Amino acid sequence: MMVEETWLPQISLELCTGCGDCVVVCPVDALEVIQGTAVVTNPLACDYCAACETICPTEAIVLPYQIVLDING
Ligand code: SF4
Ligand code: SF4
Repeated sequence: MMVEETWLPQISLELCTGCGDCVVVCPVDALEVIQGTAVVTNPLACDYCAACETICPTEAIVLPYQIVLDING
């Protein structure tokens, strides 16, 4: 099934170590580690919360087009 015009986390095959942290943290079980690499296996469930991007120790996950306002951080 093609999923179009849906913003999804982009996972770098080169940076991902398959640690599984993103799978654990994802609140909607959108991610799985398959053959050592995280994959968005349930893209329709992803609500773009960015938890996976935040927790990834190797910065392998990027959420494109996300606008981050952290002026109070
Ligand atoms: S947290 Fe990062 S390195 Fe770990 S499985 Fe997910 S994408 Fe890969
Ligand atoms: S952005 Fe949130 S809902 Fe989407 S895959 Fe990452 S942790 Fe899961």
